[in-house]
Amino acid sequence: MTPNQAGTKADQSAASSSNVIVTNQSRVACNGGGGPLGHPQVWLTLGTDGKVTCPYCSCAFVAAAE
Ligand SMILES: [Zn+2]
Repeated sequence: MTPNQAGTKADQSAASSSNVIVTNQSRVACNGGGGPLGHPQVWLTLGTDGKVTCPYCSCAFVAAAE
């Protein structure tokens, strides 16, 4: 007899709405991750501080530090 219990789920869905994406480009495209929860693709230009936030899904894009 083998107890078949897979009760350990280390699966954590991202419930946080503040997603940070590191990029090495000055212009980034965001579509909210695609799928039914996404949004129309928009192009965002990083500011002089190396950051930009998507007005649709509040994703924050930051320039990769060199
Ligand atoms: Zn977005």
